[in-house]
Amino acid sequence: MLNSCPKCDSKDITKAGVIDDRQRYKCKECNYHFTVAKSGKSTDVQIVKRALQLYLEGLSYREIESLLEVSHVSVMNWVKKYKVQRPLDQSHQIDRHVLGHDDVVKLVEDRGFLHDTNVLISRINGHYMVLTFGPQSKDFV
Ligand SMILES: [Zn+2]
Repeated sequence: MLNSCPKCDSKDITKAGVIDDRQRYKCKECNYHFTVAKSGKSTDVQIVKRALQLYLEGLSYREIESLLEVSHVSVMNWVKKYKVQRPLDQSHQIDRHVLGHDDVVKLVEDRGFLHDTNVLISRINGHYMVLTFGPQSKDFV
């Protein structure tokens, strides 16, 4: 359990709600808001699964780090621990976009888009990450 502000190291922090299963805190010293995984392993397992899923889809360790706010070293360790190997899939192009809900709705409303493209939508930090892959991969938004 975190007990000091990651920015100014003050111990004067207070709980400020829960976002995406993460406890949110506010530093009373510098007003910085930050979140930590809610206690317990279940959240951790979800993050591990999400990280491995993104890894399998071809994202780099650094990209996973910035999307999930976990260290790329952790991701590398999970990949090793669970012996995850990416299939070689060089013929397919992956595009990724982080979108708001409205833009996701617009996207999936387009029957042609769903027909031609393999899509994976994943909720991340209040937004949606849309991965599209396949030779038909299109530009959008
Ligand atoms: Zn602070």
